[in-house]
Amino acid sequence: MKDTAKKIQMVDLTGQYKRIQDKIDKAILDVVHSAAFINGPDVKSFQQELEKYLGVKHVIPCANGTDALQIAMMGLGLKPGDEVITADFTYVATAEVIALLGLKPVLVDVYPNTFTINIEALERAITPKTKAIVPVHLFGQCAEMDELMAVAKKHNLYVIEDAAQAIGADYLPAIGGTVKAGAIGNVGCTSFFPSKNLGGYGDGGAMYTNDTDLALRLKVISNHGQSVQYHHDMIGVNSRLDSIQAAVLRVKLSHLDEYTAARQKAAGFYDKAFANIPGVKIPAKSKKSTHVFHQYTLLIENGDRNKLKEHLAAREIPAMIYYPIPLHLQKAYRDPRYREGDFPVTEKLCASVLSLPMHTELDDQTQNFIVRAIAEYMGC
Ligand SMILES: *Cc1c(COP(=O)(O)O)cnc(C)c1O
Repeated sequence: MKDTAKKIQMVDLTGQYKRIQDKIDKAILDVVHSAAFINGPDVKSFQQELEKYLGVKHVIPCANGTDALQIAMMGLGLKPGDEVITADFTYVATAEVIALLGLKPVLVDVYPNTFTINIEALERAITPKTKAIVPVHLFGQCAEMDELMAVAKKHNLYVIEDAAQAIGADYLPAIGGTVKAGAIGNVGCTSFFPSKNLGGYGDGGAMYTNDTDLALRLKVISNHGQSVQYHHDMIGVNSRLDSIQAAVLRVKLSHLDEYTAARQKAAGFYDKAFANIPGVKIPAKSKKSTHVFHQYTLLIENGDRNKLKEHLAAREIPAMIYYPIPLHLQKAYRDPRYREGDFPVTEKLCASVLSLPMHTELDDQTQNFIVRAIAEYMGC
């Protein structure tokens, strides 16, 4: 039996905190003592440290990943009625901001193996009204960015990368070298939601770009549209990264590569263990991207995914379904253009994915317990 004193969690933020407790506590207390809660020096330092880490010219911190996407679309000057193409298989935030700004979300299916946007389907969805593409680097690996950027260039479209789940992932372009996820398109967006790979202790987000004019607009928009205090040149929003979050994120950024390695090690353990269990398909790895395993997502091809989830829950093993409903079948995003069956890959994924506990604090004993419970269900 598993030691019940240590409950298995999808994400173990407490365990992770305990390893860096002294540094985190000091960072937070320093902000409290300075009382520089908004735009304190930690925000600027974090911005610069993240620019260096990502190899981008500009990082613009903001209040959360959803805002990052919204501000990016505002900064690119997208106007009501413009069409924005994104993947049907993603978190709702991606489509939400498109709809909120009066833009038209155009959905396309994903690849069945890597779960990222299908480039042929994407190109077919382009119309004269299309202005931007939002690839989602789902679960921690990059979309097919060489091909996507070529399509964007051919049709003169902006590319806004949703890198909320992929911070730290390296894209391996055909020309050689590596580029960080989010640093390829016109603008990359990420989230520092606590459970993300680089998570704060509350909400947070950022945009990245190498375009200096765009960076300035993003900065102005995120601060009420003002470049000089009380002079409002554009309609903006109020979206800042708190100093306390920046202080926490500075500490955690210095550990990010270590955290990524821990996730990759845990994924390697699962991969090996599931190789011998028929009906359970391990996450496919893109040849052009490293995988930072924001999620470790199985495809349950042989058996009832929901019953497996219950089987695990009965053994106090959490598992999550990211995502149970495709965007085109969500009530709020229902559109006469789309009906059931239109995006067969996404629909099949929504019925068969199961994400297992994945975090920096997993140990072999816990993973063994999880694997054995799944093997038992699959009849091995
Ligand atoms: C988390 C997430 C977001 C939104 O980030 P928040 O900080 O929660 O607003 C957007 N897109 C994807 C793919 C995400 O996973």
